[in-house]
Amino acid sequence: MPFLFKGKHVMEEKTKMLCITCPKGCTLEVTHAGKTVLKVEGGGCKRGADYAAAELTDPRRMVATTVRVSGGAHPLLPVYTRKPFPKPRIPSLLEKLRQVELHAPVSMGQVVLADALGTGIDIIASRDVGSDGG
Ligand code: SF4
Repeated sequence: MPFLFKGKHVMEEKTKMLCITCPKGCTLEVTHAGKTVLKVEGGGCKRGADYAAAELTDPRRMVATTVRVSGGAHPLLPVYTRKPFPKPRIPSLLEKLRQVELHAPVSMGQVVLADALGTGIDIIASRDVGSDGG
């Protein structure tokens, strides 16, 4: 049913979403007008409302994947985003990381790709990979 919100007639919608902020994984029932949250029910704490607002306006996820390494004891290096990455751009990030090939040795915590796709978010090595010779 439409209602007046900030001087405009808008449609109220209800969306169910799973809060992934902590392991409890609450199912949130979010009432919103477009991207504006009106009410959040079902959350075990108030961070659920923050999650719902972010999910409607700028959804982000941590990304973990692998990149290739040459001359190393292992051919693949696990990597992760230093911060949650904009969800709509994750396929482009994965495509970009498929083109990356590092040369061993690589150290845990090393920046593998700085400022990925201009987001200001670095991609980080999550382990050491020594060179073939040790
Ligand atoms: S609403 Fe609170 S308790 Fe529930 S999953 Fe989100 S952060 Fe955890």
